[in-house]
This record gives sequence, structure tokens and C-alpha cells, in this order.
Amino acid sequence: MESVYARIEQEVAARADRLWDVSLALHHAPETAYEEHRASALLAGELEREGFRVERGVAGLPTAFTARTGSTARTGNGAGPDEVPGVALLLEYDALPQLGHACGHNLIAAAGLGAALAARAALGEVAGTLLAVGTPAEESGGGKVAEVAAGLFDGVDAALMFHPGVHDWAWAPLTASAQVRVGFHGRAAHPTGNPTEGIDALGALIQLFNTLGVLDRRLPTGSHIQGIVTEGGRATNIVPAYAEGLFGLRGGTTSALVELVDGLRSCAQGVALATGTQVDVTDVGGRYEHFRANDVLSGLFARHLRAAGITLAEPEPGIYLGSSDIGNVSTRLPAIHPFLAIMDPDGSDHTPEFARATAGPRGRQVMLAAARALACTAADVLLRPDVPARAWAAFREKAAAGL
Ligand SMILES: [Zn+2]
Ligand SMILES: [Zn+2]
Repeated sequence: MESVYARIEQEVAARADRLWDVSLALHHAPETAYEEHRASALLAGELEREGFRVERGVAGLPTAFTARTGSTARTGNGAGPDEVPGVALLLEYDALPQLGHACGHNLIAAAGLGAALAARAALGEVAGTLLAVGTPAEESGGGKVAEVAAGLFDGVDAALMFHPGVHDWAWAPLTASAQVRVGFHGRAAHPTGNPTEGIDALGALIQLFNTLGVLDRRLPTGSHIQGIVTEGGRATNIVPAYAEGLFGLRGGTTSALVELVDGLRSCAQGVALATGTQVDVTDVGGRYEHFRANDVLSGLFARHLRAAGITLAEPEPGIYLGSSDIGNVSTRLPAIHPFLAIMDPDGSDHTPEFARATAGPRGRQVMLAAARALACTAADVLLRPDVPARAWAAFREKAAAGL
């Protein structure tokens, strides 16, 4: 394998300036979720130019794409004797409103592109599928949720990406998350003229907030609820007939999130019973699942990255870095989502400083190191039959433990 890794390094180096130009092009013209028309066209075009078969607008998303090379014959997951391996490199490219590329998805896209081009050039035709997947709308909406549902990852043994950050971490501590709308229906009345006729829907919503405060105290690490009032009545001389809150819920695991949503529903129903109101509890948008780390693939990626002088550590226990649609990929197939620092740990993503760092020299260096390590990991999956087998075994072990 050493000669393959060396060839990959050469192929990345040969494209270094072009990859950086692509990253800067995205950075200079940021596009937000589902609007990434120029970014997806640029990336798909680069892949097509080097021989990938591109399909645009996949999974019903105009700015999503797949770029494929290699053989496609595949019956199922698990790398049995008759099956060929499959690997997917994930390219994110959406930016944040106002802040531009303050999450560094321009670097994710360039590294994924570089890895896909270098792996294809180094490996040539192998018995396996090499896929680059354009995954729009990570920041809002979750393009990968739709892509998983559309079966884009069927027959794939490994989904590979990196994310720039302020830590060098082997995997991503990402919670499961959901948003739930709770609407209480009461009865309007004049608060002085007709006080006994009114049923105060806002009073019920306030009771729900109080009840959730009690629930919150016994939640496990990684779980929490944050609520806001989105409708609370219109005038002080009318008892509110309708009140509505929006709640963001997070769980350390997907099953913890399911329990938390059930807990919220029970609280809302209890409050409705106590206050004589009616209540609706509805999901808003799709749910993000927690990130299931794959130690086999993470270990390989970390080993390849050490060649660039970057050592990955385990995330600090108890720290979570939000939620992402990579969660929904990672609970379907072996996946990696390491964080590589482009700033010191006192910085933060989603800030103007981070946006600047994604166009700076450390950003370039990290992107190229990630491209090489991602391509080498992809080569491991495609050329070493033990790798997909071990990755799936590790995946199944965690799934069985609910992790
Ligand atoms: Zn972000
Ligand atoms: Zn991000």
C-alpha cells in the first residue's frame, strides 16, 4: 500500500493550487443552504473533467450531485466474497447567512474534491465504486437526510469527510436533534366582562415551560431542551385562545432524543389535562441523528494524517459540538467526521474570524493534508478487503449497544 499512498500524495500535490482556487472561489461567492448553484456546478464540473460520471439534482435536491467512477455491481452491505467495496467522499459547500464561509465548508468541498481526484488517478480502475457526493444544506435543512432517504449510500461501505474546527479530534461529538412545535388551544373571552368563560392558552404554555424545567434537571449528559414562545396572544383584553412554543431538543444518542421528545409530549398532554386546553405536538423539519464514530476508519485516517504532522486526539468528554446531518449517514453506514484545527482552541466556528481562517494559509495546509488522508483512507477501503469488513463489524457492535 505504501506505493499507493505515495502516488496519492503526488496526485494531491499536483492539484494543490487548483484545489485552493476552488476553495477560494467558494469562499468569495458564498451561497446558503439549497442555493449553492455555482458551488455545485463548479465541483461537479471538476469531477466530470477528470472522468467521473456525474448526476446532478439527485435526491430531489437541485444543488446535490453524485460523481461516480469504478464498477457498480453490488448486492448489499458487508463486503461478502461476491461484493465489491464502495466508498463515498462527502462534499459540503453551503455557507451561513451574513457570515459567509464561517463554517469552512469551502475547505470540506476542496478536500473531498482533491481526495476523489487523487484516489481515481492513483488507483485507476479497481473493482469497487468511488463516489463523490455533493451534500448541500448542512447548515439548514440537511441535504444528507434526503440523500440517505433516497438510497444514495446503498452499497457504500464508508462515508468520508473532514470538518475544519478549533480542535484536532478524531471524531465528532454531535448530538441527535429535533425541533418540535407545541400549540395549546384554549378559549377567548373578555378577562373582566366574561372571566369564567376564558381558557388561557398562554397560561398553559407557561406551565409547560415550568414543567420542562423540572424534566430538564434529570436529563442525561448531551440532552437538553431550549424553548421559545412563537405565539402568545394579541391583546391584554382578550384571554389568549391560542399559544405556541417552538422547542429545540437534543439527545446524546438518537434513542435518548426519542425519549426526550416522548417526555415533552407527556408534559404537554399533562398540562393540557390540568388546564382544560387541547394540545398539538408536531415535528418541524427532519430529525438529525447522533454521530456514530467508526474507530476502524477513524484510526486509518488518523494514521495517514500523522504523515502531515497532525495528531488527532479523542474529543474532551462531555463536550458536544452541536448536531449535523452527517449523523443520519453515520447511523446507516461506517463514517468519519474528524475535526482538524485551522484556529487555536479559544476561537470558534460561525464567527468572522473563522471565516477569514478558512481562506488563510493554515486553512490551505489543513485542506491539503485532509485531501491526502481522505484519499489514502478511501484506498484502504477499496484495496484492502479486511477494512470494509472490520469497519462494518465495528459499526454493528455500536449499533447493537445503541451508540
Ligand atoms: Zn456550521
Ligand atoms: Zn459545518
